[in-house]
Amino acid sequence: MANSNLTTAEQLAREELLDMVPYQSARRLFASADAQTDKVWLNANEAPGTGNYQLNASNINRYPDFQPESLICAYANYADISQDSLLATRGADEGIELIIRSFCQAYQDNIIICPPTYGMYAISAENHGAGVITVPLKADDLTLDLDGLKQQVAKAKVVFLCSPGNPTGNLLPQAQILAAIELFKGTAMVVIDEAYIEFCPDYSCAKLIKQYDNVIVLRTLSKAFALAGLRCGFTLANPDVITLLSKVIAPYPISAPVAEIASKALTNELTMMRSRVQETNSIKESLAAWLASQAWCQQVFASNANFVLFRCSSANEKTRIFELLLENDILIRDQSKQLQLEHCLRISIGSEQEIAKLQQILSTQ
Ligand SMILES: *Cc1c(COP(=O)(O)O)cnc(C)c1O
Repeated sequence: MANSNLTTAEQLAREELLDMVPYQSARRLFASADAQTDKVWLNANEAPGTGNYQLNASNINRYPDFQPESLICAYANYADISQDSLLATRGADEGIELIIRSFCQAYQDNIIICPPTYGMYAISAENHGAGVITVPLKADDLTLDLDGLKQQVAKAKVVFLCSPGNPTGNLLPQAQILAAIELFKGTAMVVIDEAYIEFCPDYSCAKLIKQYDNVIVLRTLSKAFALAGLRCGFTLANPDVITLLSKVIAPYPISAPVAEIASKALTNELTMMRSRVQETNSIKESLAAWLASQAWCQQVFASNANFVLFRCSSANEKTRIFELLLENDILIRDQSKQLQLEHCLRISIGSEQEIAKLQQILSTQ
């Protein structure tokens, strides 16, 4: 019987969607109309500045190529990978969604996540009707619980690992990543999310896709390349995986202006990107050292990414720090609801001036 209090859409929709909570992105929590004001945005791991891009829109009457050649060629060169092992997507987020839709039968198959971790894996799974098995990182050092993972072998189709991790910032040990890939050989795809790999390029797992047919690596232009607004990411995997994902992705995923800007970023702006990374890493190190010396700071997590996670000495201190910054128009991210991250806050590394302002406010409380 139709319930007359419900709209037609509510009556017709997949039932589980009605109560589903969408990803609470930093941008949903604080809308970007405010970005024009003098707020300091340190809550979404974006880069503080941008490059200078000029658009040529003369071909905009035509559909773009399915995978724009100049873009794929530029990323293949940058990542040192063959062109047929690459899929350009609307951000790494779309890569996550495509992988789940390609490998998980709805209402039957599962993914594995290792929290504390990036929220979109579980949300994409939920959206598609895939189950989520949780194997938390080890509480003492935030590395993989390989015994826990072993118990889930053959119970999931996809395993999401994030290295460097978000919101933790740490790398997973290479030996553990290899062990996980071996563990799930033949039963699950192991996805290594490298959204932050430019901040520690020596630790990329991209080479492993040549060796293992169950490895997928995710990349993005949103972080080190300072192009979060562009929505461009890449999935790296063996050609058979790319062929599969290509059947699921939209027919024209990368718009012509996106391809044009991204291609430029990957050719002319690489030196700029690398110096941005160096500067970010150096600001991060000094911020981490400063945080460690504050009375209200109980723990600073080692970070290989463009943010620092730290634990406050109490729930009250956590709220006080967050609110004090907010009152002064500085937005950081509360991570205290994540597993094992009680009283934790995360600061994205902005410009030197922005971080100096943050330190000044927290010093003169
Ligand atoms: C930011 C982020 C993404 C998403 O990147 P987009 O390319 O902007 O969609 C994926 N994974 C992790 C771990 C991230 O932090």
